[in-house]
Amino acid sequence: MQSLDEFATGKLAALEEQTLRRRLVETLRTGGAATVRRGRTLISFCCNDYLNLSQHPAVIAAAVAAVREHGVGSGASRLITGNHPLFAKLEGRLAGLKGSEDCCVFGSGYLANTGIIPALVGPEDLIVLDELSHACLWSGARLSRATILPFRHNDVAHARALLAEHRRRHPHALIATDGVFSMDGDLAPLPALSRLAQDHNAWLMTDDAHGLGVIGGGRGSAFAHGAPVEVPLHMGTLSKAVGTYGGYLCASHAVCELMRNRARTLVYSTGLPPAIVAAAIAALDVIENEPAYAARPLHKAKAFTRSLGLPEAESPIVPVILGSAERAITAARLLEEEGFLVAPIRPPTVPEGTARLRFTFSAEQPDAAVERLANVVRDNIMAAAS
Ligand SMILES: *Cc1c(COP(=O)(O)O)cnc(C)c1O
Repeated sequence: MQSLDEFATGKLAALEEQTLRRRLVETLRTGGAATVRRGRTLISFCCNDYLNLSQHPAVIAAAVAAVREHGVGSGASRLITGNHPLFAKLEGRLAGLKGSEDCCVFGSGYLANTGIIPALVGPEDLIVLDELSHACLWSGARLSRATILPFRHNDVAHARALLAEHRRRHPHALIATDGVFSMDGDLAPLPALSRLAQDHNAWLMTDDAHGLGVIGGGRGSAFAHGAPVEVPLHMGTLSKAVGTYGGYLCASHAVCELMRNRARTLVYSTGLPPAIVAAAIAALDVIENEPAYAARPLHKAKAFTRSLGLPEAESPIVPVILGSAERAITAARLLEEEGFLVAPIRPPTVPEGTARLRFTFSAEQPDAAVERLANVVRDNIMAAAS
């Protein structure tokens, strides 16, 4: 019989064989977009801290003051003794930003999605899900044991056909999608999905992890399509543009109360540390009070796509698809030699044959560095790929 270690070693060898073995690399973020790896300072183009708020003096000050006043951990689930008064303040701020009646904060975005979906739908129900939705929307969908029907990426006609055929056999139906796709940077067609949800009596849920703070005037993807889109379930994270940690659902008061009662990842997991909650509130102050600063990442992404002749960026995420995992890794190494930190993204994070470089733009990257990066990518990576 195989020992446990033989089993693990065999699995790792198989990954290595396919260029899919991953390793943790020690990385220090040293302020602005600077990052130290293997002893070298690189400019990071792969961080989701789009507004560099994790290092903003006001955000740090709020966290430090809260640690001094309230200590470090929260001690228990929010339903026991972990519900610090700062939670209500943060939830009020998020609900205000999204224009929803209420908000419920979770331990992380992943915990939010795996808690929200099973609290809303069960084995009798239907979930119609964009095929490129984030892994944790898939995890939440699977945990619910509902029937999952994926639709082709951003193909509303396909989603409509699935609902037309299957909706009537299920008591409830949920349509779920990323608002901004995490590995592609494109936006979901939320106005059309919202109409689809109304036509088929389905509930629309968006995962706005990459929208809050950076598009739609800082309010996220439901506000990036002209008139605000009717979305009854706005989920998102505090760990990207907000620069801290945690997840949330903005929804009606009834839905949020249901989460506080039935979302297992809220009920059975420890509440966020008070300092993280305080820091998130301070970060929202910056997002709401400094719209020009919040618009910077998207401006930089657009300058990059213009310079490379790529379709105009819709968010601060820009993929350059290279195909094989090997090509993506070689390209990332080349960029590292040039002083840029860019993560190669391989399956299973993206579909087979679409390994890529995923560039993310953030407020503190110097414009000259964005321009030099575009030149290196054009001359050394895209020229070789075509
Ligand atoms: C990062 C991400 C999450 C997970 O959020 P965490 O707070 O990091 O757990 C969920 N959805 C999408 C689309 C993401 O990109």
